Amino acid sequence: MHEIESIEKFDPEIADAIKNELDRQKNYLQMIASENYASKAVLEAQGSIMTNKYAEGYPHKRYYGGCEFVDVAEDLAIERAKKLFGAEHANVQPNSGTNANFAVYNAVLGHGDTIMGMSLAHGGHLSHGAKVSVTGKIFNPVQYGVNKYTEQIDFAEISDIAKKAKPKLIIAGASSYSREIDFKAFREIADEVNAYVMADIAHIAGLVAAKFHNSPVPYADFVTSTTQKTLQGPRGAFILSKEKYKKETDKSVFPGTQGGPFMHVIAAKAICFKYAMTEEFKDYIFNVIKNSKRIAKIFMDENYRVVSGGTDNHLCLIDLSSHKITGRDAEASLYKAGIVINKNVIPFETLPPTIASGIRIGTPSVTARGMKEKEMDRIAMMIIDVLKNLNNRETEENVQKEVINLCNEFPVYENL
Ligand SMILES: *Cc1c(COP(=O)(O)O)cnc(C)c1O
Repeated sequence: MHEIESIEKFDPEIADAIKNELDRQKNYLQMIASENYASKAVLEAQGSIMTNKYAEGYPHKRYYGGCEFVDVAEDLAIERAKKLFGAEHANVQPNSGTNANFAVYNAVLGHGDTIMGMSLAHGGHLSHGAKVSVTGKIFNPVQYGVNKYTEQIDFAEISDIAKKAKPKLIIAGASSYSREIDFKAFREIADEVNAYVMADIAHIAGLVAAKFHNSPVPYADFVTSTTQKTLQGPRGAFILSKEKYKKETDKSVFPGTQGGPFMHVIAAKAICFKYAMTEEFKDYIFNVIKNSKRIAKIFMDENYRVVSGGTDNHLCLIDLSSHKITGRDAEASLYKAGIVINKNVIPFETLPPTIASGIRIGTPSVTARGMKEKEMDRIAMMIIDVLKNLNNRETEENVQKEVINLCNEFPVYENL
């Protein structure tokens, strides 16, 4: 690995960890729905000397001198984010999705105000008001879930809860929800109770950018997202807002909730937004969804229950309870076979989240390697083979051999 020569010389232990992690990323099937492979250009920007620059403030209005070149990077990132999503304003400084969400709350809410988001158990995110998160401590969280029968977002129920709880802000968005989210419907409910709408598209940003998912931008007051998931960018986040919230948003990110921005990461975000405007990216997202639908179909054909009966996006949730397998055991055995997925609670879960009844399978990373439906058939059958012979060492070894073959057929990071 030529990029880490200096690390190898100075700190062999860290160099080994990086090399082993690279091998792992190359030789396992990465099917964690929130992960992806950042491009070499993105990696280069993140590893660049822009990390050295302090640039508190915003382009052309900094608290430090010498910012003329990092300003170029941040201006480009802002302009491209606005263009890509058709937004009036973009703030590209949040260091993570959690920070972006907190910055929005901090911009428009006060201590004890009511926020309404999807419960963690039904697919929401910790930063949407979970008890263990600061967002569930300093605000008053009210949570909605999915309908028991459809396992999809139920707007009649959300409207009822909103009318009773009178939230000041409603959050639309999730981490393990496989259906298209109707952002317009959220807006209509929010208007009835005079609430702000924040759409959190951390998972589906790539789908929205490529126009394979409806956009929240026309309806939401604020849109937050990460860049490292379906957008294939660096680890980081951004906020889109209406022009009228520009000042509050920017003030809330800096100095409200963050210090000096990560200029190397902002440069990488600009690259990520540029790539997301290409036809190549559109084609990639098209295949991500097609692959995900294919996997869901195979599981259903093989008598596995797919939560909500299918998928519209890059992930699907498989309920293993009728097969008497837990998510935890499935995750462990699949990992030994070279397939990385995560255990996941299913709606109306009866097991603790550390055990869980389901697994979440995502297609962004395998699609980034160039795999198509034919390979999804092979992968789904490999997963099912392991699930049917859970913890059987021979099955795990046989599947792992096939995983290595598939990884060699579709290499990634070849010249790293
Ligand atoms: C991934 C995710 C986030 C934020 O993640 P970070 O790890 O803080 O970057 C926020 N919201 C949702 C819905 C997510 O899935």
